[in-house]
Amino acid sequence: MKIEKIELYQVDLPFAGGVYQLSGGRHYTFFDASIVRVVCDNGLQGFGESTPFGSNYIAAHARGVRAGIAEIAPALIGCDPRQVDRINDVMDLALLGHNHAKAPIDVACWDLLGKYTGLPVCELLGGSTGIPLPTISSIYAAEPADMRQRVADHRARGYLGHSIKIGALDTEGGPALDAERIADSLADRRAGEYFLVDANGGLTPETALRMLRLLPSGLDFVLEAPCATWRETLSLRKRCPVPIILDELIQNDDDVVRLISLDAADGIGLKISKAGGLTHGRRQRDMCQAAGLTLSVQDTVGSTIAFAALAHLGQSVAPRLLRCILDCRDMVTLETAAFHAPVEHGGVRVPDEPGLGINVDCSVLGDPVSVWQ
Ligand SMILES: [Mg+2]
Repeated sequence: MKIEKIELYQVDLPFAGGVYQLSGGRHYTFFDASIVRVVCDNGLQGFGESTPFGSNYIAAHARGVRAGIAEIAPALIGCDPRQVDRINDVMDLALLGHNHAKAPIDVACWDLLGKYTGLPVCELLGGSTGIPLPTISSIYAAEPADMRQRVADHRARGYLGHSIKIGALDTEGGPALDAERIADSLADRRAGEYFLVDANGGLTPETALRMLRLLPSGLDFVLEAPCATWRETLSLRKRCPVPIILDELIQNDDDVVRLISLDAADGIGLKISKAGGLTHGRRQRDMCQAAGLTLSVQDTVGSTIAFAALAHLGQSVAPRLLRCILDCRDMVTLETAAFHAPVEHGGVRVPDEPGLGINVDCSVLGDPVSVWQ
């Protein structure tokens, strides 16, 4: 079984909620998706997606994804997609770094491996835990009452987790506004709900500690990505009374090693495209499980193709360490594929179908922007 052709598509995914506001004054109205189709000599085809969260979220941007794929794709023609680790070796030899460009190809190879073996990807990743995967909302930063309402809306739709975005600039209200956002968002908390308070690196140790001191006592949440650098994070870690989860600082396997060796946090946000796909996602999952770190399995953002990949990885995580998965389908209005994984009974279960279990709507993709064969 050999890779015969790689097609690259570009699709704009409008944000479902109007304007997404993130710490530091960043905002987004749509996301630029790159989708690949890998076609093999036996007629099987696999899909993968990489959709950065704007160009200023991590060091990844959509045109960089496509330029990176152009570097990698020619080297992959003729390779066996079932050998996922060897595929990663070939990609690393062609291009150093650039995980976000490698992720969609890696995911497409897992999709192909699943179709070849007749097994869902989660079974190939170690086996499905069979549990419904709790989904997490993404509550962008806004006025506290508005955030509380959006938490309630997601709760009514079955979400058990909520990611509350904070990180107000001093000119916007600073630590006092962030404390109010947290208190309001958690005001109606139900038993069994999980709250991440996510600053996306927008705090300093000083603003984080001031914010925490302004909160009412007894609020149950973890603080995600409080600071943008390791130095700031480690300084805050020594003085922070709430658990810390890292996200943007954790991209390569080596970042997980660093986290563990420095005891820098209690869990990670594992995003498929920043990890470089499911091969590295699987490795980071195992390292976290060995260290007793909790996992939120996510992607930077993305359509149903990206969601299917992260859901399969989430389905393979030990339940005691899996906190939630991100239902990124809900964040965009364009549907790129059918994927029968409704939110019900407290979560999502991946369908028992070969590969990712998606049926891509090729009419939505349009014509490929590049083809290698
Ligand atoms: Mg995050």
